[in-house]
Amino acid sequence: MPTSEPDRVPGRRTARFAVVDPATGETFAEAPDQQPDELDAVVDRARRAWYDWRADPAARTSALRVAADAVERAGDDLARLLTREQGKPLAESYAEIARTAARLRYFAGLSPRPRRITDGRPVHSEIRWRPLGPVAAIVPWNFPLQLAAAKFAPALAAGNTLILKPSPFTPLATRLLGSVLATALPEDVLTVVTGREPLGARLASHPGIRHVTFTGSVPTGRAVAEAAAASLARVTLELGGNDAAVLLDDVEVDGIADRLFWAAFRNCGQVCMAVKRVYAPARLHAEVVEALAQRAKTVAVGAGLDPDTRLGPVNNAPQLARVEQVTRQALADGARAAAGGRRPDGPGYFFPPTILTDVPAGSPVVTEEQFGPVLPVLPYRSLDEAVDAANATGFGLGGSVWGTDLDRAEAVADRLECGTAWINHHAELSLAQPFAGVKDSGVGVAGGPWGLYGNLRPFVVHRPQEA
Ligand code: NAD
Repeated sequence: MPTSEPDRVPGRRTARFAVVDPATGETFAEAPDQQPDELDAVVDRARRAWYDWRADPAARTSALRVAADAVERAGDDLARLLTREQGKPLAESYAEIARTAARLRYFAGLSPRPRRITDGRPVHSEIRWRPLGPVAAIVPWNFPLQLAAAKFAPALAAGNTLILKPSPFTPLATRLLGSVLATALPEDVLTVVTGREPLGARLASHPGIRHVTFTGSVPTGRAVAEAAAASLARVTLELGGNDAAVLLDDVEVDGIADRLFWAAFRNCGQVCMAVKRVYAPARLHAEVVEALAQRAKTVAVGAGLDPDTRLGPVNNAPQLARVEQVTRQALADGARAAAGGRRPDGPGYFFPPTILTDVPAGSPVVTEEQFGPVLPVLPYRSLDEAVDAANATGFGLGGSVWGTDLDRAEAVADRLECGTAWINHHAELSLAQPFAGVKDSGVGVAGGPWGLYGNLRPFVVHRPQEA
């Protein structure tokens, strides 16, 4: 049986659920609605596959490299399906697939280093690293493939097997990815399961799972941590963000406006570490609003499959309702839309890129994560006020500082309470860096060697020194 196919309970027909094209709002396909009781067999097979997979690091490295090649070869099919179900422009789907393959290659080349400790006693201790067992990866709909790869590439490279559950809003490209990976990996090393809740909850609490690695919202992250507590599985949580961009008074607005706009609106604002609030010096505020609004009014919004499109629709109806609701609330609170602000008539989950000004600091579009194409631009009078406002949130994923004097910008960046701070750009990550949110934005460290060690446990051997 291919690794991406569901295990079926004998005598039961697998139900299916609808998958909607966000550019039309219409159902265009279905996916298997697997039931929680199917997971016992899936986890059992993953455990059995683990014994061979963990035993041969060289075979793992070469299988993961072959898998990366296979992903690239399937790029056209994966990209079209991803755009169809997720909504993003086709060029962004291709970029996501390239990052998926790059993650496989990066982690294929990493292996843990044993270390010997000598501390003056007549013994030496050697630290070796062992995989954990079957890992459960649960991921959201904004970057279904690359976020899945951020889980499975380090977990598999470390010698674990993995069960991957995509969001029910974007199950199809992940199922196809599972089939593509199955051509390169031994059977049951990676299994894709699709279905609606409580499939994820059951996976997170399954006693056979030794690491639950989750990307998604803060409330679901809390539920996942509680579920995993049942079996005391390791938990890694990559959660939401409400990143601030702080513009300094020496910023050249024209020079940064494009980068700032795309840092907020790429993937229709549905990026955990998108710029979600802009703080501009009062003197420059109008100029910043104007520069962003002008771009918002002219960017090509449309179906992701249309080659002219730069911004697609919001991915799903509940998220669109949320974006509309926080925007409506901000306008009711006294904000003004310098661009956008209202959902257009017509099919699909489109919302225009929206720049909000005169937004009260307590409005939910500022205090919560909007996760959509709406950006409040807030004026500040003193730098302390801006830094305090940037930090005055329960989130702590990323943040950025924009200005001409880089040393000064870096000193301000150092004051941001977050996992990654950027200067004059935002959300750019190296595969080799650690990625970790603080406060409500996450638990554990992904990325780079830290991501590999997050899927390993130390095993220590003490032995007397030879006489
Ligand atoms: P979500 O929390 O609603 O869902 C995430 C995943 O969890 C989905 O697969 C969903 O089906 C599953 N799920 C739902 N209920 C569950 C439960 N009780 N137990 C186990 N699994 C369950 O998030 P979403 O709306 O899909 O994604 C958007 C959120 O993800 C935003 O908050 C965004 O900031 C965050 N995100 C974070 C990062 C990061 O790296 N920090 C990256 C991307 C997205």
